[in-house]
Amino acid sequence: MQPTVTLSHRGEQRLLGGHPWIYRSDVADASASAGDIVVVRNAKGRVLGSAFFSDRSQIAVRMLTHGEQVANEAVIASRIDAAIAFRESLAIDATAYRLVHGEADLLPALVVDRYGDYLVVQALTQGMDRLTPVIVRALEDRLRPKGILARNDPKTRALEGLPQEVTLLQGEVPEAVSVREGNVEYDVDLRHGQKTGLFLDQRENREAAARYARGRVLDCFSYNGGFAMTLAPMAQETIAFDISEDAIARVRANALRNGVTVDARVGNVFDELRGLDRLKERFDTIVLDPPAFAKSKTAVEKAVSGYKEINLRALKLLNPGGFLVTCSCSYNISEGLFAQIVHEAALDAGAHVTVVEKRMQGRDHPVMLGVPETYYLKCFILRKVG
Ligand code: SAH
Repeated sequence: MQPTVTLSHRGEQRLLGGHPWIYRSDVADASASAGDIVVVRNAKGRVLGSAFFSDRSQIAVRMLTHGEQVANEAVIASRIDAAIAFRESLAIDATAYRLVHGEADLLPALVVDRYGDYLVVQALTQGMDRLTPVIVRALEDRLRPKGILARNDPKTRALEGLPQEVTLLQGEVPEAVSVREGNVEYDVDLRHGQKTGLFLDQRENREAAARYARGRVLDCFSYNGGFAMTLAPMAQETIAFDISEDAIARVRANALRNGVTVDARVGNVFDELRGLDRLKERFDTIVLDPPAFAKSKTAVEKAVSGYKEINLRALKLLNPGGFLVTCSCSYNISEGLFAQIVHEAALDAGAHVTVVEKRMQGRDHPVMLGVPETYYLKCFILRKVG
């Protein structure tokens, strides 16, 4: 018997609404085991499609196909091919970028990032985890990488009852991998770096910010200095802050490597922005790229005040005519809400602010219409008129 899941009426309605996730409470019946590809039926027994099944997560079903088409290994491999072909068509001026962005590539819970000759894979559900050999084969056939690493250490794997681990899947992966983004070079630690090594989703926003950067530049929440490195050639002076000593050590090493001068300092941005204001320091370009303050719906209220605080402080520190590049990577904070927060910050700062660009994650991290979870990064480039 083929593994089968039967949806409740509400589950079916949700599926018809275009969202690929069905919650456990909307599953009427399941005869399937962890990570199976299942046939999905409605209460009357009609086949709705096929999907991954999880016996642990609240997201019990992740749709793969609709109607009679059955998902199998060949479907997964051809979707990987299509995802790679799309990235190749973008003519990205970098050697590091995302090849597969989960649901938006019809490959739920799968991430594949390219760092030059090396690939990093994240399989975040039981179904994708089980298909890892298929994924590795498809990537090898298509790209012939020197090494493939599984960065299966995100916490979300625990929700699936899967171990958090980093394992070598194929070939070899050195301690430091050199990559290039535009004119900037980085050494990346694929095993221990945040995310899969770099914040690839900000690449196009760094490029965009470079179009406006000038004067004194302040990069807040810098990580390894992606914004600072890209903007420094346009600046008279560049200061970067991060709370992590390791990140700041990387900013210094990257600055040296790229021949730019960055004053990299360990510090808590909330305190540092206040300190800079006390010292009456002023800047012409400020970047705010904090970690996700709202990781869950319940955290939204506190997150709103966090975002407002840093935007208010930054707008005060900005000279008239200066630019603020402000980001939120919390998908629980919608674009509309983020715009409202920044507006309130501007009012409190007594600043007149125009929107120069409204941006999001790079094109290699596409957003799927109807799946808000795939639209997480918002980036506004603002100008303080006066
Ligand atoms: N701008 C970076 C990515 C930033 S990720 C890029 O383009 O690559 C967020 C960073 O914020 C992390 O490096 C984390 O160490 C840092 N961070 C978190 N809380 C902080 C705080 N309160 N003050 C300063 N840095 C903080």
